[in-house]
Amino acid sequence: MNDKTLYAQILGITTPWEVSEVELNLTDSEVKVRINYNSSQGYCPECGKAFSVYDYREERSWRHLDTCQMITTLISKVPRIKCLEHGVKTVNTPWSEANSRTTMMFERFAIDLLLASKNQTKVSEILRVSFDVLHHIMEKAVKRGLLNREERNIEYLGIDEKSMKKGHNYITVLSDTKEHCVIEVGETRTTSASKSLLNKGLSANQKKQIKAVSMDMWQGFMNAVKEELPEASIVHDKFHIIKYLNEAVDKTRRAEARELQKNNNRTLIKTKHIFLKKKENMTENQLTRFQEIQEMNLKTSQAWMAKENFKEFFNSETINDGKFFFAEWYNDVKERSLTKMIKVGQMLIKHSEGLLNYIKHNIDNSIAEWINGKIQEIKTIGRGFRNFENFRTAILFFLGKLSLYPQSSQ
Ligand SMILES: [Zn+2]
Repeated sequence: MNDKTLYAQILGITTPWEVSEVELNLTDSEVKVRINYNSSQGYCPECGKAFSVYDYREERSWRHLDTCQMITTLISKVPRIKCLEHGVKTVNTPWSEANSRTTMMFERFAIDLLLASKNQTKVSEILRVSFDVLHHIMEKAVKRGLLNREERNIEYLGIDEKSMKKGHNYITVLSDTKEHCVIEVGETRTTSASKSLLNKGLSANQKKQIKAVSMDMWQGFMNAVKEELPEASIVHDKFHIIKYLNEAVDKTRRAEARELQKNNNRTLIKTKHIFLKKKENMTENQLTRFQEIQEMNLKTSQAWMAKENFKEFFNSETINDGKFFFAEWYNDVKERSLTKMIKVGQMLIKHSEGLLNYIKHNIDNSIAEWINGKIQEIKTIGRGFRNFENFRTAILFFLGKLSLYPQSSQ
């Protein structure tokens, strides 16, 4: 078997395509495989009808998977046909999608490596391609995945903001909370941007099926859902409410630490992380310190307790149980004069419908936390995204549960 036959087999090249030359460059560890088209006829990529070859495009190259650890490039002049209906068209090649700089096998492997490592820098090193080539593969994969995504029945949505950069550069993430995947990502978090996001991510039919949308108490999201999904309930979920309660604990701690320090009491200095934790997650040292502080009956410990107690609300079996629990909890924080907790309580009273809807819909809350963590991970490996489109592509690539692979055209 000569090297032409060998490469034709490796690459899956069959007639009328033919490997015409294999050029080895040992100095650069490179193989160039030239492929000719040996037929006077070709098929229109639009309608599949056969026409005679009209002309040939300029020579182009496609990066392929390495063979024998050498960078392998396919080179070919692809013929064009003149379809009576569709005009002059380039015929499909068996090794790549239209307008691609890499072969399908290369793309599949790049997608596998990206999904496995979630590290664009590492994958570009392994595959010896630029970040740009890799990004192009991801972009195409997401486009293809969105195009081929089936219209499924979605009942529960999550809509959430994420900061893209430090400061106030927000993006909005729309997710399917049952399927655990991101549906679409939007720029900014205003009412009109959130409305467009709902329309971009969901068909008119899907919009009618939505039962509830979980979200933070952000007016832009609430307005958008009320206007675009009038039948759906708004649910303020556990993840976001706990976040407010945690912030209230920390504010209480900071204020009290300042008070104590006036009398040279340093009890609460450097205790932020202790009070943001659940008891079972504390280290032994943290737990000892936590217990010592608890015996002093400071406002901080009481606020921490109020936050922990609130978690019981989410186990309420009926709306009435929930209402009763909340009233008791709110009375307790008022009696203890936990001002920061009272503030959260007041905010929850203002949003009581969405709060109680949590019990009604029994929303799976793990998604909000999961997406939050995953997006943080993507941000870290992407070394910060300067551009919205790139960030959107990465989120949908890793979290969209899309069918990312290129489809064979022949
Ligand atoms: Zn045609």
